[in-house]
Amino acid sequence: MKVDFKKYVDGLAPAIVQDYTTQKVLMLGFMNEESLKKTEETGLVTFYSRSKKRLWTKGEESGNQLQLRQILLDCDKDTLLIKADPKGPVCHTGADTCWSEKNHKEDFLNYLEHIIELRRTGVDEKSYVRQLFNKGINKIAQKVGEEAVELIIESKDVNQALFLNEAADLLFHYLILLQAKDCSLADVVKVLEQRHQSK
Ligand code: AMP
Ligand code: ZN
Ligand code: ZN
Ligand code: ZN
Repeated sequence: MKVDFKKYVDGLAPAIVQDYTTQKVLMLGFMNEESLKKTEETGLVTFYSRSKKRLWTKGEESGNQLQLRQILLDCDKDTLLIKADPKGPVCHTGADTCWSEKNHKEDFLNYLEHIIELRRTGVDEKSYVRQLFNKGINKIAQKVGEEAVELIIESKDVNQALFLNEAADLLFHYLILLQAKDCSLADVVKVLEQRHQSK
C-alpha cells in the first residue's frame, strides 16, 4: 500500500471508514505509516489519534473494534478508504456512525451498558465494575442503596454539582444492578411504557 503521506506536513492521511456490508460511512480518522502498518498486521483498524498523540486502535476501550476487510486508495493516493466490519456502535456517543441522527443521550446510556457488560466478562480483574460483579448481587444492591442515601443527603445541599455527581453515581450503579439481574434499561423502559399505555 503506497500512500503519499509526504503530501501532509504532519504525515497524517485522512482515512474514511465504511461498513463492508451496509456501505454506510462510519467515521473519519487519520493514519500515519505506522498506524497503517499496524492495521494491516493486526486486521484491526488503527489510527493515529491527534488528541491522544499516539496510535489508537479503534475499540481499545469500548470493545467496538473495526475488523479490516479492504483498503482502497483514491486517485492520487493521498486518502484511504477502509472497508471494515464494526463489532459495535462506531461513534463514542453510542450511535452506529459518527453521522447518525439518533438521540445521543439515550445512546450514551446504551453505550455505558455495553461497557459494563465488557468489564463484567473482560480479562481486566482490576476493573472496578468487574470487582463489584465478583462480590455478588447483594454487594451491588447494597451499593445502589448507599448511592441513593448519598443522593438524599446531597438533595438537602445547595451545591448542584455534588447533587449531580451523586445522581450519576446512582444511575451508574443502578445500571450495574440491572445487569447483575440479567436485565437492561430497555426492559425497565418497557415496563414504564406499558403502565403509560394502560392509563
Ligand atoms: P474506543 O476506541 O471505541 O475504545 O473509544 C475510546 C475513545 O476514543 C473514546 O472515549 C473517544 O474519546 C474516542 N473515540 C471513539 N470513537 C470515536 C470516533 N468514532 N471518532 C472520534 N473519536 C472516537
Ligand atoms: Zn486524493
Ligand atoms: Zn462519533
Ligand atoms: Zn456516591
